[in-house]
Amino acid sequence: MPQNESLVTKNPSELKLLAPMALIVIVAVCALVGSLWIWADQADALSRTREQTLVRLGLDQIADNHAQLMTPVTINDDAVKNTAISYNPAWISKNIGRHFHNFLNFETSLILDDTGKVIGAYHNARPTDPREDEKLAARAAGLIDKLRRIHAQRIASGLPSNADSDHIGRLMTFDGQIYIIGASLILPDSTDSALQTAKPFAVVGLHALTSAELLRLSQHYMVPGIHLLKPGETRSKRAASVEYREDGTGHPGGRSLATLSWMPDAPGRTLFMHALGPVLLISLGLGVIAIILLHQTQKAARGLVASEARAKHMALHDGMTGLPNRTLFADRLNQATERLKRQGGHVAVMCIGLDRFKDVNDTLGHLAGDELIRHNAQKISGIIRSCDTLARLGGDEFVIIQTDTDARAAAALAKRVLETLTGKVTLESGQVFSSCSIGVTLLHDGDIEPAEALRQADLALYRAKDLGRGQYAFFEIEMDATIKLRKTLETGLREAIHADDIDVVYQPQVDHFGHIVGIEALCRWTHPTRGPVAPGYFIPLAEECGLMNDLGHLIMRRAMQDAHRWPGLKVAVNVSATQMRCKGFLAGLKELLAETGTRAEQIEIEITEGVLLNDDSTTQIVLRDLRHMGFTISLDDFGTGYSSLGYLSRYPVDKIKIDRSFISNLGVDPEAEAVIRAIIKLAKALNLNVIAEGVETRAQKTILRQAGCNIIQGFLFSRPVAAEAIDEMMRNEGRLTIHDGGAPEAPRARVKLSPRMPN
Ligand code: C2E
Ligand code: CA
Ligand code: CA
Repeated sequence: MPQNESLVTKNPSELKLLAPMALIVIVAVCALVGSLWIWADQADALSRTREQTLVRLGLDQIADNHAQLMTPVTINDDAVKNTAISYNPAWISKNIGRHFHNFLNFETSLILDDTGKVIGAYHNARPTDPREDEKLAARAAGLIDKLRRIHAQRIASGLPSNADSDHIGRLMTFDGQIYIIGASLILPDSTDSALQTAKPFAVVGLHALTSAELLRLSQHYMVPGIHLLKPGETRSKRAASVEYREDGTGHPGGRSLATLSWMPDAPGRTLFMHALGPVLLISLGLGVIAIILLHQTQKAARGLVASEARAKHMALHDGMTGLPNRTLFADRLNQATERLKRQGGHVAVMCIGLDRFKDVNDTLGHLAGDELIRHNAQKISGIIRSCDTLARLGGDEFVIIQTDTDARAAAALAKRVLETLTGKVTLESGQVFSSCSIGVTLLHDGDIEPAEALRQADLALYRAKDLGRGQYAFFEIEMDATIKLRKTLETGLREAIHADDIDVVYQPQVDHFGHIVGIEALCRWTHPTRGPVAPGYFIPLAEECGLMNDLGHLIMRRAMQDAHRWPGLKVAVNVSATQMRCKGFLAGLKELLAETGTRAEQIEIEITEGVLLNDDSTTQIVLRDLRHMGFTISLDDFGTGYSSLGYLSRYPVDKIKIDRSFISNLGVDPEAEAVIRAIIKLAKALNLNVIAEGVETRAQKTILRQAGCNIIQGFLFSRPVAAEAIDEMMRNEGRLTIHDGGAPEAPRARVKLSPRMPN
């Protein structure tokens, strides 16, 4: 089905889902990479802080080591003697000026007296003007003050004046250069009191940090590439640095005076760069898996949607034709009536039934029947508007909902459908003549239930069939009463058969002299409230309701029982086509023969041509068996339907019964006499007995006799009467007198309704 195919093909919603899915994957990957980056950055920041700490401590250590190297010279009795006790420039020049430069690596050394005044200065071991180094001395003053304070506290607490902490090493900046500054008091290394009490001089050494020292520092702490930034030089963003800041007084803080910079180790970044590839690869893989899973889920979902759609379609459509079924019909009709309520106007509901569809099924088989249904479904679909609905309710029953219509348009459509469906149809198994009948109901009341609308259209269809098929009829209110009565009678008949409440009357068949030579059994039924019902109505009703076999069996039993009353007479019993086709028919007859003790030879079976219509071997076999058993066969209503010589020669028939219509036309229609003569001639040629039924007048009797038909049945001699009345006639030697104008009246049927025509 087209809509199913479209459901199975690619769905754009999959593409719609793919975009957000891809976005989710990208965002997830970005989040993962971002987190990794942040962790890496934090690790790097930690590592950088650690390196900065190491570099600071390392430089402080270098400064302290330098300062400590001063103490063998400064903490020495000789040094006190040559400074505080008696200032000796030669000694100082040698032991401080030169020694500090040559062995302790101080490019500049200063001697300060107990007041802090620079009294000696040396640059690269050469004496210089002390006044030039006042600035440097001022920067060192803080250190010396601190040493003096410590020294004073020691003296005050009675400790020896010299101790480890008599030197201080610091880093200092000067003109953008980093220097190691070492300061020490000149103190005795003995306990000589004269030396102890002397006010100590101080020494300051200054050494510019060299790149070799920085390299050593780099190697020692595994912090490669430590270098001093030149003035104005900016470090790269990634580089780590240690800044030396000072305020104007030499205290830390304040503006940046020198910066050491290096490329810090970045373990986080390294790890990140290593992990990035695999992470991206894994993410890509997961993304691909997610998309494949999505695709498969979507495929499964599409499958579900498709099968749901299929199930829905099957639930709402007829499998054979693909047309809407009863459920969908009801739904569409509801929608149409809802619109009626809002907008007014009319909606037509048309029931279409194929004429004699059952015959097609019975003669050509069910496959041919199905083919015809499909063929007709297609044809009707071709002539309705797209806004109308054509549904199949089952069997050969179609229904159309025509919206926005009126009586004229509904009639026009009904005519079009009749024209379209009437004609020869070539099926695989043969050609059939197809026609249909249509029942229409025109709705203008939006409150009607679909079932009621359908019932009305169905009633109209009955009427159309009743009128002779191949036409349409509109629903009228009176039809309701008809159908209600039908229901009442159906129930009544069922009950009557069940209670054996059916009568059988008998009509004599007489010869030319008025002698009874046979009797026809005819059934009668009187409804408890409605009175007598005509057999012409209730026999077809019994056929339609599936009661015919039971009813036939009942009548046959009664006829066989009554046959005992009239030993020399044949009792003719009408047997319908339905009974003949019933599998247990022969067995039932045998049982009845045994049960009633009647001989088959006393019973004549009256069949109509309808029985022979089913031109199959089964009918032939049944008829042969019947004759074999001793029954005789009479062909009723001869000349009306499909009478043909073929039947008479093919089937084992004993008697033909000329139909009443020919007899009543005698003297009216000249043709009738000719037909009767032809039939009688034919019967004689085939060696068959002939009987005429429905003989009401002497004239008819005379013509028949002249034509060669000597056995007659009709009101001229007797109406059908109760068995007791036949008994009475038989007591009178079985001879009947003629009743001109009709025999005494048996109760006439009051209910004479037109039966629903069988398909
Ligand atoms: P049928 O078999 O052709 O029965 C003859 C019908 O013609 C009977 O009508 C009978 O009353 C009527 N008839 C007899 N003589 C005259 C006459 O001179 N003038 C007129 N106008 N009518 C006459 P009935 O009893 O109403 O039966 C009608 C049909 O119902 C029967 O036609 C038969 O086809 C069917 N039928 C009646 N009884 C049975 C039955 O027991 N079994 C079956 N299967 N069908 C039955
Ligand atoms: Ca009959
Ligand atoms: Ca008849």
